[in-house]
Amino acid sequence: MYAEYFPVFADLVHRLGLVALVSMAYGSIIRAFNLPWTRGLMVGFLFGGAAIISMLDPVIVDEGIIVDARSILLALSAPFGGVAAVLVSTALTILSRVLIGGVGVHAGVVGIVIIGLISLIFTLVYRPQTYSWKHFLILGLTVPLYTLSVFILPFEQALPIFQRIALPMLTLSVAGIFLISMFLHRERLRVDRVKTLEVDAHTDPLTNLANRRLFDRVARRTFRKAASTGGDVFSLVMIDIDSFKSINDHWGHSNGDLVLVEISTIIRSLVRKSDLVARYGGEEIAILMPSATAVEAMAMAEAIRRRVNETFFDLGRTQAHVTVSAGVATFTAQHQSMTELIEEADVALYRAKRLGRNRIELAAMAA
Ligand code: GH3
Ligand code: MG
Ligand code: MG
Repeated sequence: MYAEYFPVFADLVHRLGLVALVSMAYGSIIRAFNLPWTRGLMVGFLFGGAAIISMLDPVIVDEGIIVDARSILLALSAPFGGVAAVLVSTALTILSRVLIGGVGVHAGVVGIVIIGLISLIFTLVYRPQTYSWKHFLILGLTVPLYTLSVFILPFEQALPIFQRIALPMLTLSVAGIFLISMFLHRERLRVDRVKTLEVDAHTDPLTNLANRRLFDRVARRTFRKAASTGGDVFSLVMIDIDSFKSINDHWGHSNGDLVLVEISTIIRSLVRKSDLVARYGGEEIAILMPSATAVEAMAMAEAIRRRVNETFFDLGRTQAHVTVSAGVATFTAQHQSMTELIEEADVALYRAKRLGRNRIELAAMAA
Protein backbone atom coordinates (compact mmCIF):
# COMPACT_ATOMS: atom_id res chain seq x y z
CA MET A 1 0.00 0.00 0.00
CA TYR A 2 2.92 2.35 0.68
CA ALA A 3 3.85 1.91 -2.95
CA GLU A 4 1.09 4.45 -3.65
CA TYR A 5 3.34 7.16 -2.30
CA PHE A 6 6.15 6.63 -4.77
CA PRO A 7 4.41 7.93 -7.88
CA VAL A 8 2.99 10.77 -5.82
CA PHE A 9 6.38 11.91 -4.62
CA ALA A 10 7.93 11.34 -8.01
CA ASP A 11 5.13 13.47 -9.34
CA LEU A 12 5.87 16.23 -6.86
CA VAL A 13 9.60 16.29 -7.56
CA HIS A 14 8.88 16.12 -11.25
CA ARG A 15 6.84 19.30 -10.93
CA LEU A 16 9.35 21.33 -9.00
CA GLY A 17 10.73 22.47 -12.36
CA LEU A 18 7.28 23.77 -13.20
CA VAL A 19 7.16 25.41 -9.78
CA ALA A 20 10.42 27.24 -10.42
CA LEU A 21 9.00 28.58 -13.69
CA VAL A 22 5.71 29.50 -12.04
CA SER A 23 7.35 31.41 -9.20
CA MET A 24 9.65 33.25 -11.59
CA ALA A 25 6.70 34.23 -13.78
CA TYR A 26 4.72 35.12 -10.65
CA GLY A 27 7.49 37.52 -9.61
CA SER A 28 7.43 39.20 -13.02
CA ILE A 29 3.65 39.57 -12.95
CA ILE A 30 3.43 41.17 -9.51
CA ARG A 31 6.28 43.44 -10.47
CA ALA A 32 4.71 44.54 -13.74
CA PHE A 33 1.03 44.78 -12.75
CA ASN A 34 0.05 47.00 -9.86
CA LEU A 35 -3.72 47.09 -10.18
CA PRO A 36 -5.29 44.27 -8.12
CA TRP A 37 -7.66 43.10 -10.87
CA THR A 38 -5.24 43.03 -13.79
CA ARG A 39 -2.63 41.46 -11.56
CA GLY A 40 -5.20 38.91 -10.36
CA LEU A 41 -6.22 38.03 -13.92
CA MET A 42 -2.59 37.47 -14.93
CA VAL A 43 -1.88 35.33 -11.87
CA GLY A 44 -5.08 33.39 -12.63
CA PHE A 45 -3.92 32.64 -16.17
CA LEU A 46 -0.50 31.63 -14.89
CA PHE A 47 -1.75 29.29 -12.17
CA GLY A 48 -4.57 27.99 -14.34
CA GLY A 49 -2.14 27.35 -17.18
CA ALA A 50 0.28 25.57 -14.87
CA ALA A 51 -2.60 23.52 -13.42
CA ILE A 52 -3.52 22.43 -16.95
CA ILE A 53 0.07 21.45 -17.68
CA SER A 54 0.14 19.31 -14.55
CA MET A 55 -3.22 17.78 -15.49
CA LEU A 56 -1.84 16.76 -18.87
CA ASP A 57 0.88 14.84 -17.07
CA PRO A 58 -1.12 13.02 -14.42
CA VAL A 59 -0.80 10.04 -12.17
CA ILE A 60 -3.59 7.76 -13.36
CA VAL A 61 -5.25 5.98 -10.44
CA ASP A 62 -7.87 4.23 -12.50
CA GLU A 63 -9.27 4.67 -15.91
CA GLY A 64 -10.57 8.25 -16.04
CA ILE A 65 -9.57 8.94 -12.43
CA ILE A 66 -6.56 11.20 -12.37
CA VAL A 67 -4.55 12.61 -9.53
CA ASP A 68 -2.17 15.48 -10.10
CA ALA A 69 -0.77 18.72 -8.81
CA ARG A 70 -3.56 20.91 -10.13
CA SER A 71 -5.19 21.11 -6.73
CA ILE A 72 -2.08 22.79 -5.32
CA LEU A 73 -1.85 25.53 -7.93
CA LEU A 74 -5.56 26.09 -7.79
CA ALA A 75 -5.60 26.32 -4.00
CA LEU A 76 -2.83 28.92 -4.06
CA SER A 77 -4.52 31.18 -6.65
CA ALA A 78 -6.54 33.23 -4.19
CA PRO A 79 -3.85 33.60 -1.50
CA PHE A 80 -1.37 34.81 -4.13
CA GLY A 81 -3.59 36.52 -6.70
CA GLY A 82 -6.90 37.36 -5.04
CA VAL A 83 -10.47 36.77 -6.18
CA ALA A 84 -9.80 37.43 -9.88
CA ALA A 85 -7.00 34.87 -9.91
CA VAL A 86 -9.03 32.09 -8.35
CA LEU A 87 -11.97 32.75 -10.71
CA VAL A 88 -9.75 32.56 -13.79
CA SER A 89 -7.72 29.55 -12.71
CA THR A 90 -10.83 27.65 -11.60
CA ALA A 91 -12.57 28.36 -14.91
CA LEU A 92 -9.53 27.30 -16.94
CA THR A 93 -9.06 24.13 -14.93
CA ILE A 94 -12.73 23.14 -15.18
CA LEU A 95 -12.65 23.69 -18.92
CA SER A 96 -9.63 21.47 -19.43
CA ARG A 97 -10.89 18.81 -17.02
CA VAL A 98 -14.07 18.60 -19.09
CA LEU A 99 -12.03 18.31 -22.27
CA ILE A 100 -9.94 15.50 -20.80
CA GLY A 101 -13.16 13.62 -19.99
CA GLY A 102 -13.37 10.11 -18.54
CA VAL A 103 -15.65 8.61 -15.90
CA GLY A 104 -14.26 10.93 -13.23
CA VAL A 105 -15.21 14.14 -15.06
CA HIS A 106 -18.18 15.08 -12.84
CA ALA A 107 -16.32 14.32 -9.66
CA GLY A 108 -13.31 16.14 -11.08
CA VAL A 109 -15.28 19.31 -11.78
CA VAL A 110 -16.94 19.25 -8.38
CA GLY A 111 -13.52 18.73 -6.81
CA ILE A 112 -12.12 21.75 -8.66
CA VAL A 113 -15.00 23.92 -7.48
CA ILE A 114 -14.41 22.77 -3.90
CA ILE A 115 -10.72 23.70 -4.12
CA GLY A 116 -11.62 27.11 -5.58
CA LEU A 117 -13.98 27.70 -2.67
CA ILE A 118 -11.42 26.59 -0.08
CA SER A 119 -8.88 28.92 -1.68
CA LEU A 120 -11.35 31.80 -1.60
CA ILE A 121 -12.43 31.18 1.99
CA PHE A 122 -8.79 30.99 3.06
CA THR A 123 -8.14 34.53 1.76
CA LEU A 124 -11.28 35.83 3.44
CA VAL A 125 -10.09 34.43 6.78
CA TYR A 126 -6.38 35.33 6.58
CA ARG A 127 -4.74 38.50 5.23
CA PRO A 128 -1.73 38.02 2.93
CA GLN A 129 0.36 40.32 5.15
CA THR A 130 0.07 37.83 8.01
CA TYR A 131 0.90 34.63 6.10
CA SER A 132 3.33 32.26 7.71
CA TRP A 133 4.12 28.57 7.32
CA LYS A 134 1.28 27.74 9.74
CA HIS A 135 -1.29 29.18 7.35
CA PHE A 136 0.03 27.12 4.48
CA LEU A 137 -0.05 24.01 6.64
CA ILE A 138 -3.72 24.69 7.38
CA LEU A 139 -4.42 25.20 3.68
CA GLY A 140 -2.53 22.00 2.81
CA LEU A 141 -4.61 20.03 5.31
CA THR A 142 -7.92 21.52 4.15
CA VAL A 143 -7.55 21.20 0.38
CA PRO A 144 -7.71 17.34 0.29
CA LEU A 145 -11.36 17.67 1.37
CA TYR A 146 -12.03 17.91 -2.34
CA THR A 147 -11.32 14.19 -2.72
CA LEU A 148 -14.74 13.65 -1.11
CA SER A 149 -16.11 14.63 -4.52
CA VAL A 150 -15.55 11.02 -5.71
CA PHE A 151 -18.70 10.14 -3.76
CA ILE A 152 -20.62 11.64 -6.63
CA LEU A 153 -19.94 8.26 -8.21
CA PRO A 154 -21.99 5.29 -6.94
CA PHE A 155 -20.85 4.52 -3.40
CA GLU A 156 -19.48 1.05 -4.08
CA GLN A 157 -17.42 2.50 -6.95
CA ALA A 158 -16.36 5.61 -5.02
CA LEU A 159 -15.20 4.00 -1.81
CA PRO A 160 -12.27 2.01 -3.21
CA ILE A 161 -11.14 5.02 -5.26
CA PHE A 162 -11.34 7.22 -2.20
CA GLN A 163 -9.36 4.71 -0.16
CA ARG A 164 -6.70 4.71 -2.82
CA ILE A 165 -6.39 8.44 -3.39
CA ALA A 166 -7.20 10.00 -0.01
CA LEU A 167 -3.93 9.40 1.77
CA PRO A 168 -1.61 10.05 -1.20
CA MET A 169 -3.55 13.25 -1.93
CA LEU A 170 -3.29 14.41 1.67
CA THR A 171 0.46 13.91 1.58
CA LEU A 172 0.83 15.53 -1.83
CA SER A 173 -1.35 18.44 -0.82
CA VAL A 174 0.36 19.20 2.49
CA ALA A 175 3.89 18.84 1.12
CA GLY A 176 3.11 20.55 -2.20
CA ILE A 177 1.20 23.50 -0.83
CA PHE A 178 3.78 24.02 1.85
CA LEU A 179 6.71 23.98 -0.58
CA ILE A 180 5.16 25.97 -3.40
CA SER A 181 3.63 28.58 -1.13
CA MET A 182 7.03 29.15 0.44
CA PHE A 183 8.49 29.74 -3.03
CA LEU A 184 5.73 32.16 -3.93
CA HIS A 185 5.71 33.89 -0.56
CA ARG A 186 9.43 34.48 -0.79
CA GLU A 187 9.08 35.77 -4.32
CA ARG A 188 6.40 38.21 -3.19
CA LEU A 189 8.54 39.45 -0.29
CA ARG A 190 11.46 39.89 -2.66
CA VAL A 191 9.42 41.92 -5.15
CA ASP A 192 7.94 44.05 -2.35
CA ARG A 193 11.40 44.74 -0.98
CA VAL A 194 12.76 45.73 -4.39
CA LYS A 195 9.79 48.04 -4.95
CA THR A 196 10.32 49.70 -1.56
CA LEU A 197 13.99 50.18 -2.33
CA GLU A 198 13.16 51.68 -5.71
CA VAL A 199 10.72 54.14 -4.17
CA ASP A 200 13.25 55.01 -1.44
CA ALA A 201 15.95 55.58 -4.03
CA HIS A 202 14.00 58.38 -5.66
CA THR A 203 12.08 59.88 -2.76
CA ASP A 204 13.13 62.60 -0.35
CA PRO A 205 12.41 61.21 3.13
CA LEU A 206 11.50 64.55 4.75
CA THR A 207 9.06 65.96 2.21
CA ASN A 208 8.15 62.77 0.34
CA LEU A 209 8.76 64.67 -2.87
CA ALA A 210 10.87 63.18 -5.64
CA ASN A 211 14.57 63.67 -5.00
CA ARG A 212 17.11 65.28 -7.26
CA ARG A 213 18.23 61.94 -8.67
CA LEU A 214 14.78 61.22 -10.09
CA PHE A 215 14.25 64.82 -11.15
CA ASP A 216 17.48 64.94 -13.13
CA ARG A 217 16.71 61.68 -14.86
CA VAL A 218 13.17 62.68 -15.84
CA ALA A 219 14.23 66.21 -16.79
CA ARG A 220 16.98 64.97 -19.08
CA ARG A 221 14.57 62.52 -20.72
CA THR A 222 11.97 65.29 -21.19
CA PHE A 223 14.62 67.55 -22.68
CA ARG A 224 15.81 64.90 -25.14
CA LYS A 225 12.26 64.24 -26.26
CA ALA A 226 11.49 67.91 -26.73
CA ALA A 227 14.77 68.51 -28.54
CA SER A 228 14.18 65.63 -30.94
CA THR A 229 10.58 66.50 -31.83
CA GLY A 230 11.24 70.26 -31.84
CA GLY A 231 7.61 71.13 -31.12
CA ASP A 232 7.17 69.81 -27.57
CA VAL A 233 7.32 72.72 -25.16
CA PHE A 234 7.90 72.24 -21.43
CA SER A 235 8.71 74.49 -18.51
CA LEU A 236 10.71 74.48 -15.34
CA VAL A 237 9.92 76.30 -12.09
CA MET A 238 12.62 76.71 -9.44
CA ILE A 239 11.25 77.70 -6.05
CA ASP A 240 13.37 78.81 -3.09
CA ILE A 241 12.08 79.63 0.38
CA ASP A 242 12.88 83.23 1.32
CA SER A 243 15.19 83.87 4.27
CA PHE A 244 14.86 80.29 5.40
CA LYS A 245 18.00 80.57 7.45
CA SER A 246 16.30 83.08 9.72
CA ILE A 247 13.30 80.74 10.18
CA ASN A 248 15.71 78.11 11.42
CA ASP A 249 17.50 80.67 13.58
CA HIS A 250 14.24 81.99 15.10
CA TRP A 251 12.15 78.86 15.53
CA GLY A 252 14.64 76.06 15.46
CA HIS A 253 15.64 73.56 12.83
CA SER A 254 12.74 71.14 13.45
CA ASN A 255 10.22 73.94 12.93
CA GLY A 256 12.14 74.80 9.78
CA ASP A 257 11.59 71.21 8.68
CA LEU A 258 7.89 71.59 9.41
CA VAL A 259 7.65 74.67 7.18
CA LEU A 260 9.50 72.85 4.41
CA VAL A 261 7.06 69.93 4.62
CA GLU A 262 4.04 72.25 4.65
CA ILE A 263 5.26 74.16 1.61
CA SER A 264 5.87 70.88 -0.20
CA THR A 265 2.29 69.87 0.56
CA ILE A 266 0.97 73.19 -0.76
CA ILE A 267 2.95 72.82 -3.98
CA ARG A 268 1.82 69.23 -4.47
CA SER A 269 -1.80 70.28 -4.04
CA LEU A 270 -1.53 72.97 -6.73
CA VAL A 271 0.40 71.28 -9.54
CA ARG A 272 -1.12 69.23 -12.34
CA LYS A 273 -0.97 65.44 -12.32
CA SER A 274 1.66 65.39 -15.04
CA ASP A 275 4.03 67.77 -13.22
CA LEU A 276 7.02 66.42 -11.34
CA VAL A 277 7.77 68.15 -8.05
CA ALA A 278 11.19 67.47 -6.54
CA ARG A 279 13.26 68.64 -3.63
CA TYR A 280 16.15 69.95 -5.65
CA GLY A 281 18.33 71.28 -2.85
CA GLY A 282 18.03 72.08 0.85
CA GLU A 283 15.06 74.47 0.66
CA GLU A 284 14.80 74.59 -3.10
CA ILE A 285 11.96 72.85 -4.92
CA ALA A 286 11.88 72.26 -8.66
CA ILE A 287 8.80 71.61 -10.79
CA LEU A 288 9.05 70.04 -14.21
CA MET A 289 5.94 70.92 -16.21
CA PRO A 290 5.53 68.87 -19.40
CA SER A 291 3.83 70.72 -22.28
CA ALA A 292 3.43 73.89 -20.20
CA THR A 293 4.14 77.24 -21.86
CA ALA A 294 5.94 80.08 -20.09
CA VAL A 295 2.58 81.73 -19.39
CA GLU A 296 1.18 78.56 -17.82
CA ALA A 297 4.31 77.97 -15.74
CA MET A 298 4.29 81.61 -14.57
CA ALA A 299 0.66 81.21 -13.53
CA MET A 300 1.50 78.07 -11.56
CA ALA A 301 4.48 79.70 -9.85
CA GLU A 302 2.33 82.73 -9.01
CA ALA A 303 -0.43 80.53 -7.56
CA ILE A 304 2.12 78.83 -5.32
CA ARG A 305 3.70 82.12 -4.25
CA ARG A 306 0.29 83.56 -3.40
CA ARG A 307 -0.88 80.49 -1.46
CA VAL A 308 2.31 80.36 0.61
CA ASN A 309 2.06 84.09 1.25
CA GLU A 310 -1.52 83.64 2.51
CA THR A 311 -0.64 80.71 4.77
CA PHE A 312 0.28 80.96 8.43
CA PHE A 313 2.41 78.05 9.49
CA ASP A 314 1.43 76.62 12.84
CA LEU A 315 4.62 76.12 14.85
CA GLY A 316 3.24 75.13 18.26
CA ARG A 317 3.27 78.33 20.28
CA THR A 318 3.52 80.62 17.31
CA GLN A 319 2.45 81.15 13.72
CA ALA A 320 5.08 81.94 11.13
CA HIS A 321 4.68 83.86 7.91
CA VAL A 322 6.92 82.56 5.14
CA THR A 323 7.33 83.55 1.52
CA VAL A 324 8.88 81.96 -1.55
CA SER A 325 10.50 83.24 -4.72
CA ALA A 326 10.65 81.44 -8.04
CA GLY A 327 12.40 81.50 -11.38
CA VAL A 328 10.66 80.12 -14.47
CA ALA A 329 12.33 78.92 -17.69
CA THR A 330 10.74 77.42 -20.79
CA PHE A 331 12.28 75.12 -23.37
CA THR A 332 13.00 76.54 -26.80
CA ALA A 333 14.65 74.91 -29.83
CA GLN A 334 17.76 77.02 -29.04
CA HIS A 335 18.48 75.24 -25.77
CA GLN A 336 21.44 72.85 -25.92
CA SER A 337 20.97 70.95 -22.66
CA MET A 338 18.81 70.54 -19.58
CA THR A 339 21.63 72.08 -17.53
CA GLU A 340 21.31 75.25 -19.58
CA LEU A 341 17.60 75.45 -18.84
CA ILE A 342 18.14 74.86 -15.12
CA GLU A 343 20.79 77.60 -15.05
CA GLU A 344 18.36 80.02 -16.68
CA ALA A 345 15.71 79.26 -14.08
CA ASP A 346 18.34 79.77 -11.37
CA VAL A 347 19.36 83.15 -12.80
CA ALA A 348 15.71 84.18 -12.86
CA LEU A 349 15.32 82.99 -9.26
CA TYR A 350 18.26 85.09 -8.12
CA ARG A 351 16.80 88.07 -9.88
CA ALA A 352 13.58 87.52 -7.94
CA LYS A 353 15.63 87.47 -4.73
CA ARG A 354 17.52 90.61 -5.68
CA LEU A 355 14.32 92.44 -6.57
CA GLY A 356 12.96 91.92 -3.07
CA ARG A 357 11.82 88.24 -2.72
CA ASN A 358 8.21 86.95 -2.57
CA ARG A 359 8.05 87.25 -6.36
CA ILE A 360 8.36 85.32 -9.64
CA GLU A 361 10.73 86.05 -12.51
CA LEU A 362 10.75 84.62 -16.02
CA ALA A 363 14.09 83.72 -17.59
CA ALA A 364 15.09 85.76 -20.62
CA MET A 365 14.42 83.56 -23.66
CA ALA A 366 17.55 82.01 -25.11
CA ALA A 367 18.59 83.91 -28.21
P1 GH3 B 1 17.23 83.46 0.57
O1 GH3 B 1 15.98 84.23 0.72
O2 GH3 B 1 18.30 84.22 -0.11
O3 GH3 B 1 16.99 82.16 -0.07
O4 GH3 B 1 17.74 83.22 2.06
P2 GH3 B 1 17.94 81.85 2.77
O5 GH3 B 1 18.21 82.08 4.19
O6 GH3 B 1 16.77 80.98 2.49
O7 GH3 B 1 19.13 81.23 1.97
P3 GH3 B 1 20.41 80.45 2.38
O8 GH3 B 1 20.79 79.65 1.17
O9 GH3 B 1 21.43 81.37 2.95
O10 GH3 B 1 19.98 79.47 3.52
C1 GH3 B 1 19.27 78.32 3.27
C2 GH3 B 1 19.03 77.69 4.60
O11 GH3 B 1 18.16 76.58 4.47
C3 GH3 B 1 20.28 77.21 5.24
C4 GH3 B 1 19.98 75.82 5.71
O12 GH3 B 1 20.28 75.65 7.07
C5 GH3 B 1 18.49 75.73 5.54
N1 GH3 B 1 18.08 74.39 5.20
C6 GH3 B 1 18.42 73.66 4.13
N2 GH3 B 1 17.86 72.45 4.18
C7 GH3 B 1 17.11 72.40 5.32
C8 GH3 B 1 16.31 71.42 5.92
O13 GH3 B 1 16.11 70.31 5.43
N3 GH3 B 1 15.70 71.73 7.09
C9 GH3 B 1 15.89 72.96 7.67
N4 GH3 B 1 15.25 73.19 8.82
N5 GH3 B 1 16.64 73.88 7.12
C10 GH3 B 1 17.27 73.64 5.96
MG1 MG C 1 16.25 80.43 0.56
MG1 MG D 1 18.48 78.14 -1.27
